[in-house]
Amino acid sequence: MSQLAKCVYRFGRDASGFDVTEGSASMNALLGGKGANLAEMCRIGLPVPPGFTVSCSVCTKFTKGELGWSDIEDDVWSALSDLEERMGKKLGDSSDPLLVSVRSGAPISMPGMMDTILNLGMNDQSVLGIIDQTQNERFGWDSYRRFIQMFSNVVMGIDSDLFENILTKKKLKRGVKDDSQLCVEDLKDVVARFKEIFEEQVDAQVHPEVLVDGKVSFPQDPRLQLQLAIRAVFASWNNSRARLYRKRNEISDDLGTAVNVQAMVFGNKGNTSATGVAFTRNPANGDKAFYGDFLINAQGEDVVAGIRNTQSLDELSGIEEFKHVSKELEEIFVLLENHYRDMCDIEYTIEQGKLWMLQTRVGKRTAQAALKIAMDMCEEGLISKHEAIMRVDPTQIDQLLHPQINPDAQIDVLCRGLNASPGAAVGEVVFSSDDAVAKAAEGIPCILVRWETNPDDLKGMIAAQGILTSHGGKTSHAAVIARGMGKPCVCGCEALKIDAASKTVKVKGTCVEIHEGDIVSIDGTDGIVVLGQVDLIQPKVCGDLETFLSWADDVRHDEKLGHTIGVRVNADNPQDAQLALEFGAEAIGLCRTEHMFLGKRKQIIQNFILGESDDVKEQALSDLLKVQIDDFYQMFKIMDGKDVIVRLLDPPLHEFVDDPRELAVEIARLETEGAEEEIIKKKTARLHVIDALSEVNPMLGLRGCRLAIVHPELLDMQVYALAGAMARLIKDGFDPHPEIMIPLVSIDQELKLLRERCEKIIAQVEAEFGVALSIPIGTMIELPRACVCSADIAQHADFFSFGTNDLTQTTFGFSRDDVESAFVPTYLRQGFLQKNPFETLDKGVNELIKLAISGGRSTKPGLTVGVCGETGGDPASINTFYADQVSYVSCSPYRVPIARLSAAQAKLRSLDK
Ligand code: ADP
Ligand code: MG
Ligand code: MG
Repeated sequence: MSQLAKCVYRFGRDASGFDVTEGSASMNALLGGKGANLAEMCRIGLPVPPGFTVSCSVCTKFTKGELGWSDIEDDVWSALSDLEERMGKKLGDSSDPLLVSVRSGAPISMPGMMDTILNLGMNDQSVLGIIDQTQNERFGWDSYRRFIQMFSNVVMGIDSDLFENILTKKKLKRGVKDDSQLCVEDLKDVVARFKEIFEEQVDAQVHPEVLVDGKVSFPQDPRLQLQLAIRAVFASWNNSRARLYRKRNEISDDLGTAVNVQAMVFGNKGNTSATGVAFTRNPANGDKAFYGDFLINAQGEDVVAGIRNTQSLDELSGIEEFKHVSKELEEIFVLLENHYRDMCDIEYTIEQGKLWMLQTRVGKRTAQAALKIAMDMCEEGLISKHEAIMRVDPTQIDQLLHPQINPDAQIDVLCRGLNASPGAAVGEVVFSSDDAVAKAAEGIPCILVRWETNPDDLKGMIAAQGILTSHGGKTSHAAVIARGMGKPCVCGCEALKIDAASKTVKVKGTCVEIHEGDIVSIDGTDGIVVLGQVDLIQPKVCGDLETFLSWADDVRHDEKLGHTIGVRVNADNPQDAQLALEFGAEAIGLCRTEHMFLGKRKQIIQNFILGESDDVKEQALSDLLKVQIDDFYQMFKIMDGKDVIVRLLDPPLHEFVDDPRELAVEIARLETEGAEEEIIKKKTARLHVIDALSEVNPMLGLRGCRLAIVHPELLDMQVYALAGAMARLIKDGFDPHPEIMIPLVSIDQELKLLRERCEKIIAQVEAEFGVALSIPIGTMIELPRACVCSADIAQHADFFSFGTNDLTQTTFGFSRDDVESAFVPTYLRQGFLQKNPFETLDKGVNELIKLAISGGRSTKPGLTVGVCGETGGDPASINTFYADQVSYVSCSPYRVPIARLSAAQAKLRSLDK
């Protein structure tokens, strides 16, 4: 391998204090985030325990079977010898041994998803060496038992609970609460028991490498320990929870993880030692304040695992032994923030008063925090306005629009915990991830209630509406993962006494007992728990978000930076239109009219469709006209001064009539009951008409503009209502801007004919009302033929609007409702599709769109082209639409803020290129 490519990179100092670091933050893809940032911290002079990183590309090749251990062995052993030389200690030495951690670290942070082993190098000999060096017998045995436990779990896959149970039993026997209260004899005994578990659990056939004299035994050779650990970390890249996490976060399976081998430092050497995690700003709300938890006399994972209750970082400076370290830490926080120009997440350990930095990365945060930090840092001059805009993930904005408890609601707070991840949720209590998954499958919202979550709970956290824990701080597993997912979470709610086995919770200080299936509400913004269902409301865009989006709008409208992409809304009723205006929509890009025919009005349209005589049909049309005029009047009034694109009736007519199967059943019933001949005859006639309407492929049948060509009186009615509403509004002193959009055109003649018909009606209304009406008439482009023949179609169109839902269906020949469950998931899994094409614009569909735009604009330069399908609110698709020179996107009301930000980011991104 050495000849092929460098696979190991050193970091930290040599024996004479000289920095020998080979990596840097820019080598993230090769060294993983942890490795690259450890190297970077060494470069800027921070105290980091020395070590080396085996690169991610080795992992990738290992996984694919292109490399084996023998190919990298030499490089690893020479890096180890070098580390031993730098530290002046040897792995496994019986008088002064080196111990190392073996840490995973991928290019994109996947907290808690892969594995880490601490204290590697411990064996029956070196434990004595450690004790000799530290003069601390307890520490020696405690470190050894931790190593056996982690090694057994990570390398051999032995259930950690087997080990925890032994510790718990020991503690019970001694009548003590914490591990730290166990004495030397206890720990020696624990080590012996742990080794027995190893011997019992490891399958000799699967792991012949740990056989001694034909018997499984805990490996004493530190090099064998290291080899097995490195390979296990590589393998952890493909464990099921890591795979699930990647899938959910759209992280490629090809990146691989690096392995960091690093000299150990010890936070568990007594009361002048500690270990902690910190953020340079508050990751929950963005406040500019150092934030974190620590534990005295503890190691590594203890803080995040919620094993003991942590202390808040603020308390560190108040403890005499840690005063100086606290000051040093704060200086480092500032240094790191300035260096990375972003909020950093930090892991550190204090060993007998000396501070060591173990990890840093740009910290994960809630949407609220992302927004505040970006805006604050811009104000502080640390980043530019454009950078600030790029710092907030548009999909995260969604979190800010999450439900909250109605402030007017009367609520009785049952108990309080930490406000770990914002938003409110209501659901049935479940106590395990499997139960959460089962509830979700039944469509029942649930709240996952746990003592603390662990990485195996990921699936349950995905399935639940919210997460509630009784233990752990704001940096605990539950808190970090929930924030990343944007799920409401209340953690560390100590009043809850959870008994997962009997599926009940008692609440301290009350006589309340909650059982599985009971409803609770949680609010992760305030950290409260309420018994029963509370009223939730949707928040408005206000405060920080409004200001931030106005920055985004400034960029979006700045013609010097590039063309402006408008943001419109798909709204069919006045309420949605009003909401969308509050969210900053500039116009209505799609107003569907079929929704106006539902409810009570269904009867009227049925009379039109099924009416036996012309009189009945005419009466139905005139009834429809009356209600439609009013519908349009209200819509155009709310959108005063703004465009409203109205799409003429689109769906196949049989969507409005009764289900023929139900009708047939009813007729059969009437017949057996001996109902009147006349009634049965009438129903049967109706059934025949409905049957005649049925189509084999309705989505490709009589719908869209084809309806208007076969039933022109429908179009006449709709256009008359639209123009009539406009005329009345003008007379009432308003400024209405309706436009007419004709759906599903594939042949230019269709549009030509229908346009002429619309213009005739508009002229008629103008004459009747005595007002001039200017109403642009355009078409939806949603069929491949329309894309290909767009130059012809544009002759008759004042605008185009891409209906990407139908265009995606017809381009792929996928029937959306059928394929989304039938095989799209399989295609995604197999990698045929990277994303669901109904959510994110597909490459092939985009080619058609580009063709259509260039054709349309070759006929009419500057032709307005919009997008009104699902993809109009998707950040990645908006990026593509910007490049396509689309004039605007139109999406559902809640996505309007996301689209505003995405459109600004698309422009800024295009400047970078
Ligand atoms: P994760 O990616 O899950 O955070 P880490 O590799 O950061 O895993 O390790 C887990 C814990 O072990 C961390 O809290 C870290 O501080 C601690 N740790 C890792 N390496 C060392 C070391 N060399 N000395 C002391 N503690 C360590
Ligand atoms: Mg961890
Ligand atoms: Mg870590």
